[in-house]
Amino acid sequence: GALGDKIYAGLFHPTAGPVNLYEARFASGKQRILAMAENLVCPWPGCKVPADRCQVHHLDAHKNGGQTNPSNLSTLCSYHNGVNDDGARARRREKSRGRMMRHRGQVKLVTPGGKLLGNTHDLSTMGAMDLI
Ligand SMILES: [Zn+2]
Repeated sequence: GALGDKIYAGLFHPTAGPVNLYEARFASGKQRILAMAENLVCPWPGCKVPADRCQVHHLDAHKNGGQTNPSNLSTLCSYHNGVNDDGARARRREKSRGRMMRHRGQVKLVTPGGKLLGNTHDLSTMGAMDLI
């Protein structure tokens, strides 16, 4: 504790540069609240699960290098978090149902055919990103 007041430590990769030592695997409480404020229901088209019953999902999968920061996080219900295609389905030769991504600031489903779809639930137009 006493040394922490006087010493700064950093880790540097020889070719990638500074390493973020504060990356977290799971969203913090504040990040969860931000994600719920953005999408009041699961943003998967047709879903009705309220945000407070959703999981926090990494839009770019954490296992693929996606960061745990607000712009890479969204709520998704447990079912749609499970069927979201983060690349593993192609490796397992399973049919993709698409994946969630951020497009022009909002979280949308990209279908396997490349079409962008949002949830049309009434509460989907009342999230924080729809109010600005
Ligand atoms: Zn859902």
